[in-house]
Amino acid sequence: MNDKLQALCQLQIVDTKIRNLEMEKQRLPSALAAEQRKLSAATATLAEKAKEAQTAQREVDRKDLDVRSLEVDINKLKTQLLAIQTNREYTALLTEIRTKETDKSKIEDEVFAAMSKVDEFKSECKRLTAEVEAEKAKLDAQTRTIEGAVREVEAKLRQEYAEREHILGKADKNALIVYERLLKKQDGVAIAAVKEEVVDGQDRYTCLGCNMNVTSQTVNRLMSTTELVHCHSCGRILYLEGG
Ligand SMILES: [Zn+2]
Repeated sequence: MNDKLQALCQLQIVDTKIRNLEMEKQRLPSALAAEQRKLSAATATLAEKAKEAQTAQREVDRKDLDVRSLEVDINKLKTQLLAIQTNREYTALLTEIRTKETDKSKIEDEVFAAMSKVDEFKSECKRLTAEVEAEKAKLDAQTRTIEGAVREVEAKLRQEYAEREHILGKADKNALIVYERLLKKQDGVAIAAVKEEVVDGQDRYTCLGCNMNVTSQTVNRLMSTTELVHCHSCGRILYLEGG
């Protein structure tokens, strides 16, 4: 293999490594997305439960006020009872007192039920808060791990970019222009090996970039010229495998 082609082959090896490392660097933080979603979901559930607990507490407070106001009414009526003159008035007042006492007892039962609901919501909030904290800690730990991995990839990238600069220094300038153009056009692979195999007693050559046949004339040119030879199908710069 001539020097021109050899430099491009070295460059392709480095460029493939760079491409993979750059992709890894992009991909790494996406591993956090699932954990971030879990944390947002847990936080939202907690907020919802806290709101429910608040509403239930307001219900308790409101019913408590009703009970107190009934108590005031009942005490007032009981005082009135002492000053009553007739039996009929007495019975009527007594009935009123009993009705209010029944109402009061009913609301007290409701307060009790609402309070146990508040307790339920509160203990649920406590459990959810612990869950949110645990998710946060998990996300923090994962973030640190990913950041470490990204730093490692960045260190490798710096090495590869330095190596690239080194190769660029000894590469043919015109060949480089062709290479760079193909690198962009052909999805990061500008150079392809030609594979030789014998099928039915005949030599057959394949471009490993596109898996299409390469003519023997092309292979002959590859062996005789120092110019760059391209694949007729994909346009990549060809080199002979093991050549
Ligand atoms: Zn090809």
